[in-house]
Amino acid sequence: MFKFKIVLAGDKNVGKSSLLIRFCEGKFHEDLKETIGVDFKRKKVVINYDSKEIPLELSIWDFGGEDKYRSLFPAYANGAAAAFILFDTTNKKSLYGLENWVKIIADNAFKNVVWIFIATKIDLKDQREVSKKEALTFFEKYRWGKEIFKTSAKTGENVEKAFIHTARKLIDLNLQNCTGCGDFFSKKLNYCTICGEKIEKKQL
Ligand code: GDP
Ligand code: MG
Repeated sequence: MFKFKIVLAGDKNVGKSSLLIRFCEGKFHEDLKETIGVDFKRKKVVINYDSKEIPLELSIWDFGGEDKYRSLFPAYANGAAAAFILFDTTNKKSLYGLENWVKIIADNAFKNVVWIFIATKIDLKDQREVSKKEALTFFEKYRWGKEIFKTSAKTGENVEKAFIHTARKLIDLNLQNCTGCGDFFSKKLNYCTICGEKIEKKQL
């Protein structure tokens, strides 16, 4: 089982805990209590990749966002393989609150961290404050992948899609396919953990 850490980043109330609960438990709470300090949940997924089934365990970290816990930020982001950057489509301020988060993650996560940009609460269409153009301008500034995931933890729209997309990216970046047995193993190793086949490192 391959394990990856994903961190959720974004201002208080953008919907980090709701996204996590929707993905891990399939539920939504209108009156969710605020997260105190740091919380995390694990979820197993099986990804169909190159006609193989690859089981992954995602540990998803959720930060309360209160200022008094800011000293925990670097430890929170440490070793993250993917970072979800969330803004609330009904709160313009939440988009600009992200700059700080991005810096902390860039400084502490893995160098090849997968960045996933998430717009939340898209079910609240009549309360929307952030235009598509504004979100796109922010997104393009950082060159994060190809798409903004427009999600609703309430209806579940695009929540699973965002995590499965991330899992595939994590496989692309971190795992390699053994030429001997066809199984997957970490790119950090130069032998297959299943059959022991040695991998010749390509000269760069
Ligand atoms: P966090 O502080 O980033 O963890 O945000 P929460 O997950 O606690 O969400 C803050 C509030 O927004 C809660 O009252 C949630 O019920 C609500 N909320 C979160 N996601 C959604 C969503 O997709 N749609 C709607 N309508 N409300 C949401
Ligand atoms: Mg929370």
